[in-house]
Amino acid sequence: SPQQYDTLIIGAGAAGLHCAANAARRGKRVLVIDHAKQAGKKILISGGGRCNFTNLYASPENYLSSNPHFCKSALSRYTQWDFIALVDKHQISYHEKTLGQLFCDDSAKDIVKMLLAECDQYGARVQLRTEVLAVEHNGQYLLKTSAGHYQAEQLVVACGGLSMPKLGATPLGYQIAEQFGHSIIPVRAGLVPFTLQDDQKQRFGEVSGISVPVTAAANDGYFREALLFTHRGVSGPAVLQISSYWQPGDAVTVNLLPDMDAFEWLKNQQSEQPKVQLSTLLQSVFPKRLVNALGGEFDWPLNQRLADISHARFETIADNLNSWSLKPNGTEGYRTAEVTLGGVNVDEISSKTMESKCQPGLYFIGEVVDVTGWLGGYNFQWAWASAYAAAEAL
Ligand code: FAD
Repeated sequence: SPQQYDTLIIGAGAAGLHCAANAARRGKRVLVIDHAKQAGKKILISGGGRCNFTNLYASPENYLSSNPHFCKSALSRYTQWDFIALVDKHQISYHEKTLGQLFCDDSAKDIVKMLLAECDQYGARVQLRTEVLAVEHNGQYLLKTSAGHYQAEQLVVACGGLSMPKLGATPLGYQIAEQFGHSIIPVRAGLVPFTLQDDQKQRFGEVSGISVPVTAAANDGYFREALLFTHRGVSGPAVLQISSYWQPGDAVTVNLLPDMDAFEWLKNQQSEQPKVQLSTLLQSVFPKRLVNALGGEFDWPLNQRLADISHARFETIADNLNSWSLKPNGTEGYRTAEVTLGGVNVDEISSKTMESKCQPGLYFIGEVVDVTGWLGGYNFQWAWASAYAAAEAL
């Protein structure tokens, strides 16, 4: 006969572990099941091994969802300050890197240890290396796994999105949602580098490793961060951020000189230093190799003196600089994406409790839900907050 619990949680990642500890603290008998050999694998590699565990400025505006209001309730009831208090309680030292992003001083391992210690303290059991074979519901949830059968009144789905299949991502969460009558907002890779068409790839491959401060805009997204040229295309925080707002076929508007009106600048420089070559002038703001690559891309008269270039030509060059319409070929996909956009339709779950409106006792938390944060600790904050909302309701 199946082992009985109050709450079964699938996924020992950020959301699952945090939910388990909080539910157990409230007296629930909790079992967390994961197929991985290790708990919190994504936490361990996150933030370059230091885990950007939250953001000082996290607020609902930092999230994408088919219903932008959905995340408000959970985020307001478990804030970045609540998570920081937990980190403090465990004496984990951290620092702000940039833009409110908090990272561990030592290692992301500290966060996983903390979550497991919390589970341990309150008696939530975490069972790894266990495959979920089937989920059934006959009054209670019955989980058939490679390690036996488990039964509980409540089932929490915390198995994340599709990004980084090498780390154990699977579509199980979406499958369970569909099994119980939920619709899924189409999923796609987010926070992911762009690839470029062959000619551009070759041209900008030459400047691979060069990073420039830009603004990047597409649809409703607008970010001012760094853009990095790579061998395959473009990356860096500005690109990762805007990728979540991008749809295939869209252009991204990149401003390579976000602090200047390039047309005014070119005209002023023309009157101040007419004998200087365009190439030389541009090398005062970009590395030389990048000037050459951009010159090739836009067919700029790099070797002409400023005096010999018309204002009409300056207008085109300024337009290239201030609003480069960059058309990515695609993205690097789930292999390197940090998150999965889309997921369990938020119209069908309670924003207060994360409980399914289709199926009582079934909860969805973390990345499997159609709520996706910006780069910068926002995705973990959603994992913590949605986990807590569910735990309070279980
Ligand atoms: P996960 O943490 O992915 O956990 C899901 C768990 O479910 C996993 O343990 C998995 O093994 C398990 N699982 C999946 N399928 C099955 C199955 N079929 N059976 C059993 N178990 C299953 N966000 C930030 O806020 N800050 C960062 O610094 C940051 N860095 C990142 C770096 C990288 C490289 C990546 C890929 C992501 C990063 N993220 C970051 C995003 C963040 O890791 C996720 O948004 C977050 O982990 C989501 O939490 P979750 O609990 O929903 O899912």
